[in-house]
Amino acid sequence: MTDLTRLTATEIAGLVASGETSAVEVTRAHLARIAAVDDRVNAFLHVDTEGALAAAGAVDARRAAGEELGPLAGVPVAVKDVLTTKGVPTTVGSKILEGWRPPYDSTIVQRLRAAGTVMLGKTNMDEFAMGSSTEYSAYGATHNPWDLDRIPGGSGGGSSAALAAYEAPLAIGSDTGGSIRQPAAVTGTVGAKPTYGGTSRYGLVAFSSSLDTPGPCARTVLDAALLHAVIGGHDPRDSTSIPAPVPDVVAAAKLGASGDLTGVKLGVVTEFSGDGGEPGVQAAFREAVETLTKMGAEIVEVSCPHFRYALPAYYLIAPSECSSNLARFDGVRFGLRVGDDGNRSLEEVMSLTREAGFGPEVKRRIMIGTYALSSGYYDAYYGQAQKVRTLITRDFTSAFEQVDALISPTTPFVAFPIGSRTSDPYQMYLADLYTIPTNLYGGPGISVPCGLSEGLPVGLQIMAPTMADDRMYRVAAALESAVGTLTPPAL
Ligand code: GLN
Repeated sequence: MTDLTRLTATEIAGLVASGETSAVEVTRAHLARIAAVDDRVNAFLHVDTEGALAAAGAVDARRAAGEELGPLAGVPVAVKDVLTTKGVPTTVGSKILEGWRPPYDSTIVQRLRAAGTVMLGKTNMDEFAMGSSTEYSAYGATHNPWDLDRIPGGSGGGSSAALAAYEAPLAIGSDTGGSIRQPAAVTGTVGAKPTYGGTSRYGLVAFSSSLDTPGPCARTVLDAALLHAVIGGHDPRDSTSIPAPVPDVVAAAKLGASGDLTGVKLGVVTEFSGDGGEPGVQAAFREAVETLTKMGAEIVEVSCPHFRYALPAYYLIAPSECSSNLARFDGVRFGLRVGDDGNRSLEEVMSLTREAGFGPEVKRRIMIGTYALSSGYYDAYYGQAQKVRTLITRDFTSAFEQVDALISPTTPFVAFPIGSRTSDPYQMYLADLYTIPTNLYGGPGISVPCGLSEGLPVGLQIMAPTMADDRMYRVAAALESAVGTLTPPAL
């Protein structure tokens, strides 16, 4: 019998639609897989067995009643714990929200439910999405299915590990500085950061509101595109949501799968080739560039001189916004409350709650951000970083006058051993060296597997102009048609 957990979302949806299998059977297979491997992977913070089986049953009933099912009906999905889920625990990887069951669904989750996908549960992440390894989760690290002693990337390591471990065929992530693309790269999966404003932030627990972008994760480019189409599009509940249709990412993925890139012009970012990247990563990237050339793409070098300032600018802008956003966790409104014994002042309770509820990386960011926004320093830090953001946007604008999309390795290095970078925040921040410029600009980016380095996956990043998400899917699907999907060693 076919192992249902090895199928793509597209294949599962086809089998459910034709009645060859049921959504309940598919869901049971994935729940069994989670039960078998997740004690080693720790991709899930919460598995919603009952909710998943009920959702799957509803899809089967709709099919039996002859209703038309959507393209992903009956397909299981794992959701990063940064998105609110009505009645289902949402912790953001933090102790401060332990036990919180939101009273409402985020827009992304509403759309997933409306499309008939089956939410298996909530995935592990670095606390408040701050990190690149999922080691900063208050609930223990997630392990990379390729090598359980290595990190699965972060902050959305749980979502990508769930895909690589065949615990789910689809997952949702959120990308503020690379948290969809970097985990995808190091787990050998696909992850797309849509154009900022192309997916709704309603019900996404805020980290850095001008950068936060939820998006799709999958094992294939077409599956990611199908998921993108389901979750994307205008949402009046998000003030920065773009009131325009989602670019036709599904058609683009299908077009790209032919492996023909004739007429497509791609720019290799000069500043990112050979810039601190591991030799194995650079080699896999160069090989991918050759493959793309053979497919008919024209490749040119493009200089983006301000990209080198992206990391420092990001580490002022993101902490500044987080210091404001995280002020709402005061021990009064949500989750944890410490020291409220009737004798303490409100301020004391707030301070005890935050001391106990936030981990060290979150505290570091809040302090940096508060400092950068304080009067007397604002212009020198936050103001300056915003100017750099403008210069980076100009680099992208001028690059896209020359080429259709930019390419680079997704990350400078492959999955590193657990514990090897936690004592030096800067070493951790470097994981997002190549992904952060896109966030500052607001355009879309995707990571697609491009090969292995010393037996570990390497990702290629494709960056496109804002609202041209379809372009990156075309190129990603073309590369995938040559490289294929990567299969980790059996767990
Ligand atoms: N690793 C980056 C950070 O720590 C990006 C996080 C993200 O995209 N959520 O901030």
